[in-house]
Amino acid sequence: MLQNVCSKTGRAFFKSARPATSTVASTSLPLDQKNRGMATKSGEWVSGELGQQTKGVHGGVEPDPRTGAVLTPIFYSTTFIQESVDKYLEKGYSYSRSGNPTVRALEERIAGLENGYGATCVSTGMAATTTVIMGTMNAGDHCVISDCSYGGTNRICREHFAENMNMEFDFVDFRDPEIVRAAIKPNTKLIFSETPTNPTLNLVDIEAISAIANEHDIVHCVDSTFATPVICRPLDHGADLTLQSTTKFYDGHNITVGGAVIAKTQKLDERMKMIQNMHGNIMSPMNAFLQLQTTKTMPLRVRQQSNSAMKIAEFLETHPKVTKVVYPGLASHPQKELADKYHRDGLHGAMLWFDVDGGDTAAMQLMNTCQRPWSLCENLGATESIITACAVMTHANMLKADREKVGISDGFIRVSVGIEDPEDLIRALDVALNQL
Ligand code: PLP
Repeated sequence: MLQNVCSKTGRAFFKSARPATSTVASTSLPLDQKNRGMATKSGEWVSGELGQQTKGVHGGVEPDPRTGAVLTPIFYSTTFIQESVDKYLEKGYSYSRSGNPTVRALEERIAGLENGYGATCVSTGMAATTTVIMGTMNAGDHCVISDCSYGGTNRICREHFAENMNMEFDFVDFRDPEIVRAAIKPNTKLIFSETPTNPTLNLVDIEAISAIANEHDIVHCVDSTFATPVICRPLDHGADLTLQSTTKFYDGHNITVGGAVIAKTQKLDERMKMIQNMHGNIMSPMNAFLQLQTTKTMPLRVRQQSNSAMKIAEFLETHPKVTKVVYPGLASHPQKELADKYHRDGLHGAMLWFDVDGGDTAAMQLMNTCQRPWSLCENLGATESIITACAVMTHANMLKADREKVGISDGFIRVSVGIEDPEDLIRALDVALNQL
């Protein structure tokens, strides 16, 4: 079999590799629609639609044609040999800023998981946000964006794109699609939503917002970092682009930073890859290799994390020192209907937040005293459970008035549930709460 693969001089391995830049003629993906993201060799893969777990393990990867290695190697090569001055090799690579085989394998895997035409992997989640904005807007254009989102997203729109680049942003409440509709102007080019929102866990009716975007011929991008494709795939609900900070659940082990933009159409995919090439923000081959491994267990991790988060949310709801718990799995979540409509398999993710008796001072005390296995730090979505004081950490970049308007108090407690035994996590929270 190895002989067979090698006899194709690597073509089977590379057959789904596509040129990523305008300098290379564009070809369409040779993958069949059903197995999008899988570099299949005809006849060798079992027939029929492949499940998420199988796509998560195998998408984008085939045994190395030279050695039979099961994992796609880390291709540290800046440049790729050409056939002649005006012709690249069929493999489709020219220079690692505009496309790299290890990165391409991860891009194909992510496109498969998110049901996209293609994915563009960049250096961080913020680079993914920048790629979307620079790829869809010019100076003078307008964007309708969620008034609650990751603090860095809010900051770059206000302090960089609006202030320095003459772009316009309206930050509105996406819980009501009519508010989004009312904010659209003749120069609106992008609707940028986030669901569930970081950190308040508001949900967006993706289909309703996508329909509004469609009516006005505007691109709708959904930051789906909190949900992951295990829980929600925005492209299946009409969105044009999905954004992931792959630093979070895709990595899931606190190892790498990374980002991805997944496009529904070839045109948008080519635009995102053009920005990746021009801005030079491509993910490194090393990080792509690591995320190719961590992604394999994402569905298992997210399932375990969601189940544990539900247990922790239920525990917190019964604790006398807790005044409010917000988790999309709880019947008390104000948008429970949307959670049930958009979240798959009854899973609602690893993220929750809560308020304690005694206000901000008590909340700060709890975060400062909560014992291990909890870690007080930034980041989320990892195997390690994390507790975060959003107002002074992840959302310190927002204006205080904007934070307060969307309900991020100074003592806002955000929790990312890891894969430890939930009983241990609950015991540690109970100790901290009983000390208040
Ligand atoms: N989007 C969301 C929802 C996030 O939570 C974050 C970071 O926390 C980002 C984007 C930015 O990702 P990164 O930190 O990988 O740049």
